[in-house]
Amino acid sequence: MASIHGNWFHSRSSSHLGELLTVRSLVLESQKPEYIGFSWSAGRQNNQKMYQFAAVANIQPSTMQTKIRTMIRYGFLKEGSICPLVWTRMGSLWNDLYTVGNIAAAKQIYELILTTSLAMFAFNQTSAQYSLNPTNGEMPLKFLLNALSNDNSISLKEFASLVDGGTTRVGGNSSYWRTDLVNSGLFQEDGGRLCCTGKYERFVENIKKFTPDSLFTDEDWQAIRDNPLINSSPFKNSVKEIFENILQQQNIEEQITDGIYTAPIVDVISEQEELYIPEIDILSTNTRFAQSVRRVRVAAWSIRIKKKYNHLCVVPNCDVNGKIFVEAAHIKPDNIPEDIMPHRAHILNGLCLCRHCHVAFDKGYFSLTDDHKIITSVKLNEIPDQNIKTVIFSSCNRPIKNRLDNRLPLVEFIQFHRTNRFKS
Ligand SMILES: [Zn+2]
Repeated sequence: MASIHGNWFHSRSSSHLGELLTVRSLVLESQKPEYIGFSWSAGRQNNQKMYQFAAVANIQPSTMQTKIRTMIRYGFLKEGSICPLVWTRMGSLWNDLYTVGNIAAAKQIYELILTTSLAMFAFNQTSAQYSLNPTNGEMPLKFLLNALSNDNSISLKEFASLVDGGTTRVGGNSSYWRTDLVNSGLFQEDGGRLCCTGKYERFVENIKKFTPDSLFTDEDWQAIRDNPLINSSPFKNSVKEIFENILQQQNIEEQITDGIYTAPIVDVISEQEELYIPEIDILSTNTRFAQSVRRVRVAAWSIRIKKKYNHLCVVPNCDVNGKIFVEAAHIKPDNIPEDIMPHRAHILNGLCLCRHCHVAFDKGYFSLTDDHKIITSVKLNEIPDQNIKTVIFSSCNRPIKNRLDNRLPLVEFIQFHRTNRFKS
């Protein structure tokens, strides 16, 4: 019988969600200033910092290194041995969905990430044992899918001999690989057989006939794994279809994009933007960490907010505009701790304001009604500057300027500002 030659290098760790959650805590830890530049994969002996780092996940450094390597291999994290650990585009989407509590959608993304990685994995005979570059060896997932019986299943026994036939890791390979296949949602075990679940019908057909471009380098494949929707991705169309399905099923457009994103998730993930937006850790109580992350996050957030309003101050009668003259203002202030709905990087918690209007807004001289009209405080008279007073008073009862995407700030953030900041 045909068999897949080569080792399924499993690094003694699996693709289980629990492992990913452990690594998630390490990703957060790795962003603390004291770890920036620290090599998590360095020697462990007498390395106090290494022990300190691993202790966050309550594990030994060797186990920690294994788990991180595994999640890099599965496409959740970018390659690299220096802190901070960085999510891939897909990993970051998983983390955001997990953070805001859409567990169902997060699980779908987790399965999609695993499937994409499995599709590209190559068994090979080199010392590296595993390669992401599918041209470097046999593509085990493609091989397996084409070796299934008519009812799209294979007996576990047959599967084991197929996988372990020519390897030194008899037993180990097939059990780890079987776990990965089940975790990806592609297969389930049933009555001594491994059966196709029917998930990702078109993607599976795609993988079965997949012939990798031999000119692609390892970096090209890494980029595709980071974001399977990029133009060079051979899976672009079928993965896009999966995304659209997840969006419909989980109602992400309505519930989640309001929380984190401004655009449909397909656009967001396709977006070739270099800005790295760190995850929002709503559970973090560590001020130093929160501060250091915020700098980066706010930079990305402000750029987006200002763009959304086309760099115009939103106060109707204020005519200030232009990139260098406007600022992004939080409606619910960013020094308020994150609540159930994370607000600091929320795209519907921002206004584009000129410097003067920004100060007046933050100090509560004006606020917004639930239907997004300007309301002014009598205390506005206290402001010495005559121009700003005129501009804001004359804008009273008028709606703020529109965003390019016609979306409006969330009422709950506006209410927070009106209740806690506005000098009524
Ligand atoms: Zn203004």
